[in-house]
Amino acid sequence: MICVLTGGTGGAKFVDGLRQVMPSEEITLVVNTGDDLLWWGLYVSPDIDSITYVLSGMLSRERGWGVKGDTFLCLQAMGQLGEPTWFHTGDRDLAVHLLRSRLLAEGRTLSEATSIVCGKLGVKARILPMSNSRVETRVDTPIGELSFEEYFVQRWYQDPVKSVRFAGASDAEPAPGVIEAITSADAVLLAPSNPVTSIGPILAVPGIREALLSARGKIAAISPIVGNSPVAGPAGILMAAQGLPCSIAGVAQAYEDFLDILVCDTRDARAADALRKNGLRVQCTQTIMRSAEDKAALAREVLALVSPAPSSAESSTSDTSFRPLGRQP
Ligand code: GDP
Repeated sequence: MICVLTGGTGGAKFVDGLRQVMPSEEITLVVNTGDDLLWWGLYVSPDIDSITYVLSGMLSRERGWGVKGDTFLCLQAMGQLGEPTWFHTGDRDLAVHLLRSRLLAEGRTLSEATSIVCGKLGVKARILPMSNSRVETRVDTPIGELSFEEYFVQRWYQDPVKSVRFAGASDAEPAPGVIEAITSADAVLLAPSNPVTSIGPILAVPGIREALLSARGKIAAISPIVGNSPVAGPAGILMAAQGLPCSIAGVAQAYEDFLDILVCDTRDARAADALRKNGLRVQCTQTIMRSAEDKAALAREVLALVSPAPSSAESSTSDTSFRPLGRQP
């Protein structure tokens, strides 16, 4: 069993690789909910949606979010009614938001609603929201505090960022199953997600960092930063706002108290050497995921790194449950 901490787009690409190389039933995902928003009165959980769609084969790989082949008729109609249209939700995507919102209105928790939606869409992996309490990522800018989606989608992350905070985090509890999934997993992986606004909110939920510190499996993170820039999006700006350099050293620093292995791009070989001198295990590989093959290759490599080396007695008789498919003896 492996546990993956993840956000939406970068995380979804990595999870797309994982599902190709290991049984989905053996994956538990702890997903950021700091980006969640009420949109047209509906509860939208962008990162849970992206992970659900990738695992059900519905994700639009071109866009990196939403449902492939979706139409946007409702969005158009809402625009005609004078409603805001900056957050794009396709028609099929909207069906998930409608169902989730109804389940929440009936008193179900976000965990329960997620599990019901996943069951209906045939997702075999276990998707857990980081918390059932509302934790909201707030980005402080010169024009005031913005929600993450206002900062990222509505305003195209053009505003200078003064700081980031996770409103409600100190009173939040991890969702049922989260702590156990982390502590008992054979390995914990941090997807190449934004360290500040995707992994940061997860780590801000009291108890989750402590669970990582007592995890029995190895903990590996894949860097979303290559050289001195993120592969995509505002991670660099947000890391700077949190006092972290935009580099693999900054990623290592964000996770330094619990990280065993950092996976970075081959282009960061020199920076990797510097980190190794500080005692961190660093593996350089091809981390840019363009094709299905790239994703599978990265997932396979990461799983091999965290796979406990079989002892000579074990190697002839048994197998670790999460050794990547295609590399089975
Ligand atoms: P969000 O919730 O949509 O922001 O999703 P994530 O936090 O999961 O994904 C955003 C991060 O993914 C960004 O910081 C990117 O740098 C990173 N990313 C996107 N594509 C790739 C890729 O192919 N390789 C790596 N290493 N990182 C990527």
